[in-house]
Amino acid sequence: MKPAWFDYYAPRTLDEALRILADAGPDGRVLAGGQSLVPMLNLRIVKPAVIVDINRIEALGRLYVGPDRLTVGALVRHADLLRDPGVEEGWPLIREATAQVAHPAIRNRGTVCGSVAHNDPAAEHPSVLVTLGGTAVVAGDGGRREVPAEEFFAGMLSTALQPGEMLVELCYPRPLPGTGAAFVEVARRLGDFAIAGAAAMLTMHGDVCEGARLTIVGMGEGPFRARSAEAALTGRRIDRTTQQEAFAEAVAKVMAAVDPTDDVHASSDYRRHLAGVMAARALETALARAKGEQIG
Ligand SMILES: Cc1cc2nc3c(=O)[nH]c(=O)nc-3n(C[C@H](O)[C@H](O)[C@H](O)COP(=O)(O)OP(=O)(O)OC[C@H]3O[C@@H](n4cnc5c(N)ncnc54)[C@H](O)[C@@H]3O)c2cc1C
Repeated sequence: MKPAWFDYYAPRTLDEALRILADAGPDGRVLAGGQSLVPMLNLRIVKPAVIVDINRIEALGRLYVGPDRLTVGALVRHADLLRDPGVEEGWPLIREATAQVAHPAIRNRGTVCGSVAHNDPAAEHPSVLVTLGGTAVVAGDGGRREVPAEEFFAGMLSTALQPGEMLVELCYPRPLPGTGAAFVEVARRLGDFAIAGAAAMLTMHGDVCEGARLTIVGMGEGPFRARSAEAALTGRRIDRTTQQEAFAEAVAKVMAAVDPTDDVHASSDYRRHLAGVMAARALETALARAKGEQIG
């Protein structure tokens, strides 16, 4: 199939893009890397009357590694993140997750903001943004607003973006010293969307867990933050003798809290099982990294 007819605009400035989007209202769509939008257009899953191609707006390509935070503009591709030494040093969780997004050709073209704006429940970046406590910077004709990650994701393929608005950048705070993080996932084939995955981040002071973040991927609605598991770990002593019990408790809470859907890829029960397995693996690796241990 081919897309339904649409008007195509390729503005060179953000102001111009926002004006076109404001005029189009609910009939407008941003085109970034096109890796998700073009298939949806071709299958006529979406039929926007106006497409705003943002690829000529140079200012949106900014990737800035600051002392306190990382800023990822709307045209930063997955591959840009993988190449950046500042991201590797300061935000290894982002790097690890990005390496598991699709294949090189898709990572060369697809954008991080596009992935977040699309909010596929099986995508890596929404969960990473939630785990790191990041912020989405949204712009519209009326100005800018900053939306905390957890308020940004509103359900499957749905976000806090309103008609006429676009995501201009993502901000990720720098993790605290003593933090270890890990992203793990299971997919049927290398490069496929994950059936399930987990992003974990533990901040350790010696053997005491001062902060825990755990987000599960692939459960149906978008990133699922496992708050009950985080609460079970925060403030707890996690050493060689207590680790097994602490993580078993956290995993049980994850499995009790998730509410996965059945689909052609996996049953709800299998997804729940995987959520537990992924959580355990991510927590173990995050802990080892926080403590500076070698992991095999
Ligand atoms: C074969 C294949 C395998 C893939 N596997 C994975 C995978 O394993 N994991 C994964 O996460 N992704 C995967 N993807 C998707 C890929 O990561 C896309 O890059 C990503 O989902 C969307 O980014 P994009 O820049 O291509 O966005 P586009 O396709 O251009 O846009 C996607 C949606 O987001 C909106 N949008 C994009 N940018 C903005 C913005 N700045 N503001 C507002 N709205 C915006 C568009 O309007 C559209 O609705 C795969 C894609 C393919 C084709």
